Amino acid sequence: MHGTSIFGWRRVVDQGSTLRLPQNGAGGVREVWHDQFCESPGVLKSARHEQTIVPVLDIEIGGDEFVTMAGPCSVETEFQLMATAHHVRRCGARILRGGAFKPRSSPYSFQGHGLDGLKMLARAREESGLAIVTEVMSECDVPMVAEFADILQIGTRNMENYALLEAAARSGRPILLKRGMMATIADLLRSAQFILDNGNPHVILCERGIRTFETATRNTFDVGAIALLKQVSHLPVIADPSHAAGHRELVPALARIAVAACADGLLVEVHPHPEKAWSDGEQTLTFSEFDEMMSSMEPYLALRPSRVALRDARVVAMEAVG
Ligand code: PEP
Ligand code: MN
Repeated sequence: MHGTSIFGWRRVVDQGSTLRLPQNGAGGVREVWHDQFCESPGVLKSARHEQTIVPVLDIEIGGDEFVTMAGPCSVETEFQLMATAHHVRRCGARILRGGAFKPRSSPYSFQGHGLDGLKMLARAREESGLAIVTEVMSECDVPMVAEFADILQIGTRNMENYALLEAAARSGRPILLKRGMMATIADLLRSAQFILDNGNPHVILCERGIRTFETATRNTFDVGAIALLKQVSHLPVIADPSHAAGHRELVPALARIAVAACADGLLVEVHPHPEKAWSDGEQTLTFSEFDEMMSSMEPYLALRPSRVALRDARVVAMEAVG
């Protein structure tokens, strides 16, 4: 009975007695999922293609490092952006987020600074060394946004805007593809396939919550989607706990859950004064809340197996099968 509790579950202890996060399921992809995702064969794992690593400056998304992308919802002022960039970098973030083009539910809300916002992001990259992820909303804007951004974000409202997906793909920049708030996992993978088919293999999937009957949270964080995507797809998966939760006090818990579900990184909203933010203040972390969240994730991050360990484990499993 060694290692088995009376409740029937086991603590997984490897030979070095180090606790590790269990990997999702057994090796391989279920047949039913092959059928379900048959229209996006290029994004599915295969023996030859286990994991895509997206290079961004000196960062590898989908590799060993858990990559945190943090920053304000919208680029507002030079001070707001620079202060946030320096702060999140000190806490371990590698990528600065911030919208210069904002898709807002109300036509009367702040729509973003456009080109001026992009220039502020470029200055923040120069000062902080962080890479930049920012949203592009229209295919006409792709060349301009691609000139300033290291990663193009496709927002939830545009996941099925195929003219935009094509233009973004052809820019050659890595693409952070957010799941549509009403999209199934198969829909998300079809959009990813569309980007691949337009010549761009550098796609990063992003789970940001979907619409359900629940109204206490802004969206419903579909952690099952993260686990499933990591099981079936070789593309990196990023979790956005901010837009999923809608309330800042829930964000750290969702971030930790994302690590346990084997996400490759986070996209999280941070602002020096969230109560004064021009957009999404309710779900945005203060600097000290961000610090606390990052520290609270450390024990979970320490459990992530390295890719080398994963590869070795798979070799052992394959040898055992014969
Ligand atoms: C954002 O990242 O600020 C944003 C608008 O995200 P989404 O498209 O997921 O709503
Ligand atoms: Mn936002």
